Amino acid sequence: MGGAAALACLFGASRAAAIELRFPVDCVVGTTCWLQNYVDHDSSDAARDYACGAQTYDAHSGTDIRLPSMAEQRDGVAVLAAADGRVAGVRDGMADVSVNEIDRGTIKGRECGNGVVMRHADGFETQYCHMARGSVRVRAGDEVKAGQELGKVGLSGNTEFAHLHFTVRQNGKNVDPFAFGAADGACNGGTSLWAPALQASLSYRQGAVLNKGFASRPIEMTDIESGEADRLAPAADSPVLIAYVRAIGLQKGDVQRLQIEGPDGARVVDSALEALDRPKAQYMMFAGRKRPPDGWKPGTYRATYSINRGGSVVLEERFDLTL
Ligand SMILES: [Zn+2]
Repeated sequence: MGGAAALACLFGASRAAAIELRFPVDCVVGTTCWLQNYVDHDSSDAARDYACGAQTYDAHSGTDIRLPSMAEQRDGVAVLAAADGRVAGVRDGMADVSVNEIDRGTIKGRECGNGVVMRHADGFETQYCHMARGSVRVRAGDEVKAGQELGKVGLSGNTEFAHLHFTVRQNGKNVDPFAFGAADGACNGGTSLWAPALQASLSYRQGAVLNKGFASRPIEMTDIESGEADRLAPAADSPVLIAYVRAIGLQKGDVQRLQIEGPDGARVVDSALEALDRPKAQYMMFAGRKRPPDGWKPGTYRATYSINRGGSVVLEERFDLTL
């Protein structure tokens, strides 16, 4: 962003040069969608998000808003205009397929996938990427209101999970909606462009649990993506009882632990993983046990998943199953 605008922010002057953004996906952060990656604020080949954390990767230009799985993507989640403006360009027609399953060369120059670019006041632009094939419902030149549907979240272009990559630019230069006006190459600066009502739900988090539940057999990532994991709840006669979690935003050194307590409060399972040897954008963990000879005690089984980082628990989630 320009130096003059930066000074205006620094000195708390009029924010007339800024834009106020509403959330570009029809979802609730922390419940039906999550922030997977932020803008990279590090000018070297390392990467740091706006809070000086590691939830980004080198040269990442936008904010990734992730759905829990492809099952929700198939149900259809709307992409919404973040502000009033005019549509500058669209693309549609690219397949919803993970980049891991195709030759990357086939999407060269079209990494955004199906997308929309909008122009707003004061030189701002917003861009919406990886939308669902056939879902884009605006055309170049359309006048669009904030909150109006542009299409649906998809899996097109350079992506391996269902999400919206949302980019904000001013006068052609990328800006971070969480840290507008931050000095180049610096984190922990700038101000938020998000509407005041969004601030609490968009506060910075140390990772998150995307999916969790109980299953009657060991599961794989594909079971979570397809929604199959939701249909595997154990019953009173299941031969095994398993708890699973898929978390995002894990860092090197993180120790994950998954415990299950039985209806009588007794520990049924206590499983801790080795410390991670590198950051993980996502990680699936499960733990469980075979049915005891006298069967499962009826009642509520409680799973507790935690991430220990540098000696303290930075995230803990509990979830229950009643047999
Ligand atoms: Zn992205």
